[in-house]
Order: sequence, then C-alpha cells, then structure tokens
Amino acid sequence: MYAKNAWKKYQKDGLDKVFSFNDGYMSFLSKGKTERLCVKEAIRLASERGFKNLDEVKNLKPGDKVFATNKGKNFAAFVIGKKDLECGLRVLGAHIDSPRLDVKQNPLYERDGFCLMDTHYYGGIKKYLYVTIPLAIHGVVVKKDGTVVDVNVGEDLNDPVVGINDLLIHLSGDLMSKPASKVVEGEDLDLTVGSIPMEGDEEKDAIKKNILKLLNDKYGFEEEDFLSAELEIVPAGPARDYGLDRSMIAGYGHDDRVCAYTSLMAVLDEEKVDYTSCAVLVDKEEVGSVGATGAHSRWFENVIANLIAKTTDYNDLKLRNALTNTKMLSSDVSAGYDPLYAGVNDSKNAAYLGNGLCFNKYTGARGKSGCNDAMPEFFAEIRKAMDESDVNWQTSELGKVDQGGGGTIAYILGNMNMNVVDAGVAVLSMHSPMEVVSKVDVYEAYRGYRAFITKL
Ligand code: MN
Ligand code: MN
Repeated sequence: MYAKNAWKKYQKDGLDKVFSFNDGYMSFLSKGKTERLCVKEAIRLASERGFKNLDEVKNLKPGDKVFATNKGKNFAAFVIGKKDLECGLRVLGAHIDSPRLDVKQNPLYERDGFCLMDTHYYGGIKKYLYVTIPLAIHGVVVKKDGTVVDVNVGEDLNDPVVGINDLLIHLSGDLMSKPASKVVEGEDLDLTVGSIPMEGDEEKDAIKKNILKLLNDKYGFEEEDFLSAELEIVPAGPARDYGLDRSMIAGYGHDDRVCAYTSLMAVLDEEKVDYTSCAVLVDKEEVGSVGATGAHSRWFENVIANLIAKTTDYNDLKLRNALTNTKMLSSDVSAGYDPLYAGVNDSKNAAYLGNGLCFNKYTGARGKSGCNDAMPEFFAEIRKAMDESDVNWQTSELGKVDQGGGGTIAYILGNMNMNVVDAGVAVLSMHSPMEVVSKVDVYEAYRGYRAFITKL
C-alpha cells in the first residue's frame, strides 16, 4: 500500500505483532551502542537461529545458514538459495556506526580542579546537543601485549556517567549571540571525568593521577594504552517508548541500527529462498564508508568469493556474474517529515512517520550529485513486490531541492554493477542524541525486507 498510514492495518488484531517485534529491536538498540557491540549482538541472534560461522564450514548447499565477520566491526548473514550464486544474491545492507564522540589518543588532562577527557567527534553532529546529557563510555583498549580490554561505563543505573558541561544562562550573554555552529566548538567537547586528588599527592595533576589509578584498578591499563584504544562516547541509557500511546521509540543510534536490525531479522527469519539472501552490516558510513570496515572495503566481495568457492569450482567470472546479478536494498534511514520544520521538505516527496518502509530513489546534493539514482526497471519490480506482500511503503527525497543533502552506501555497491536502491525507516531528529522512529515503520521495514529477499 503506497503512502498510507500503516497503523490502520494493525488496529483490529495486529498491534501485538508490531509491539513485540519492536521490543526485540529496542533491546538490540540498547545493547548495540557501538558497531562492535552490534556485531556481537548479531552473532548471538544468528547463532541462536542455527547460523554457523562461514570459516568453520567446508561446503555449502541450498538451505545452509552461515555468517561472516570482519575485524569485529562487520557482519554478514547468508541463507544459501536454490539457485547458483552466479545468478546473484538478494542483499540488505545497513550500517552500524552512528555519530558520536571518540576519545582522542592523548585524552586526559587536569585543569583548575577537574580531570577532563578530550574527544574528537565522529560523523555529522550539532555539537551543542552533546552538552548536559548523561554520556557513557564504550569500547576497547588494546594493550601492547595484544590484550583487548572491554570498557563499558554508564549504562548500568549504578554506574557513574560522564558529560560535557554548559555555561549557565546567567553568564551566556556573549555565547548566545554566536551562531549555532560556534556555540560549542569541536575542541571544547571535553568530558568531565573526575575531581578528587590522589591521596597524599601534593604535586601537579593529582586528580588526573587518581583517575588513572582508578582505571588501572578496574581495567588494568595505563595512560599510554589510550594510544591504542577505541573508546566511543555515546548517550547513556536504554531506548524508550516515545509518545503517550507508545507508538514511537526514542533512542540513540536509530541511524542506522534500525535498518540493521530489521535487515538482519528479515534474513534470519527466512527458511528457504530461491536466491541466496544476505544481510550485511558495515562500519564507517558516517565518515564516508572508507577503510577496511567501510562499504568501500573489498571484504564483502571476498566473502561472496568464499561462498562461491564453498559451493562450486571457483573462478573469477562466477564472482563477477554474481555481483552483476545481485539486487540490493541499501537499508538506511530517511529524514522524517517534522511538522515543526515543514519548510525544509517538498511535502509530496517527503517521508512520513507511520507510512511504512521508505524508498529513496536517489539522495545526493546540488543536483543529485554523488547519488545512486536507482533504475526505474528495478524500482518497478520493487513496487510490485511491496504491493503483492501488502507492505505499507512510501517514497521520499532528502529535503527539498538545494536545501542540503547527504549520501548512503548505495552507490558503492552500485559500482559493482548491481541494482541498488535506498530503503529504510523515517527518523526524526536524525543524528541527535535522541532520534525517534515509529514502531509501525520498523515493523513494515522488516516485512518489506522479507518481501524483497523472497519476491525479487
Ligand atoms: Mn545512515
Ligand atoms: Mn547518518
């Protein structure tokens, strides 16, 4: 059903299905505060459903279920189809990195009675939204001997949180006249982490020393170990029901964990498929999809080569054919229409919360620049599959023409010559510490993704 409110479909006897699916998603979102944690959770969900690690499987046949990972930050689940891999796959691809603050390599310093921790923001954020909210620290510290120490502070209600202080309104005369981009500058996104001096230490940096001792007692690492750490500062606390009717979810990281979870579950829940189905979760989308764990990496192509080698005699042409014949949804979020900021949209080409899975034929900026403009032949197949499966779906553009813009991973896989279109959930307050989605859109995304892998 195109551009219709999806709640109506479930009001008689389907609301339980919508809400219980979203309980699973909220749990995933609350646990998956970093890309590494999302991968861990994906492995758990897949293993529970009988998926085996591809590395431990010698040969593959139709109906087999496997998963692959890359450096702890990428994950892909596959259900092997009846048709040869050379006929192509049906791929759902989402990203599991989200905008945040990263701890710098030399982060700790003491000033005027406080120990502070320096950060460098990751992805597009409005910096002023990160002050005066409880923040948690997640990630790993890797010691010189290779030991990986997991760090997780701020989620348990008994844990302390950290945060970035704000200037009181009473003294903000100068500050309030600055443009929003300058009110909180990037170099000022420093966390307050302590204020007790080390006992019996009258020298310089006694508060910092005390924090380092505390870290060493709890985690066994030293100041120098920050050099090889990956610590992410994210809003503390779980995802919550949003709205008095609990129709929405407020949480950190819907972009793009909402499409990651729905894509993953769509593949995990399918038993038999004609074309090999895949949910792939990538990193680094928010900073350009670069590097070994971003969508530009050869990893995904290598995994498909491995799949082919485990089903038949491998040759390069089979891999090229598999990629060319693959159809993919770039599962990523859309900018939800917000009545408070209606002016940034063309209202007839906007994504509305509640209207179901949202397709963006193109994204880009300044005349569609940098976009993957999906083929109309491919989009026609998608319309048919969505309507035949009674999925509520809609189309949108990222804002009105020349209002701004953005991109996704769609074009990167498109470069491998596969048909790709963006499809995901509409989000309000995107890239803020508290993003909002509609539960019925989450459910329709899951249903739409299932329709894609079984009908196209
Ligand atoms: Mn995204
Ligand atoms: Mn984003």
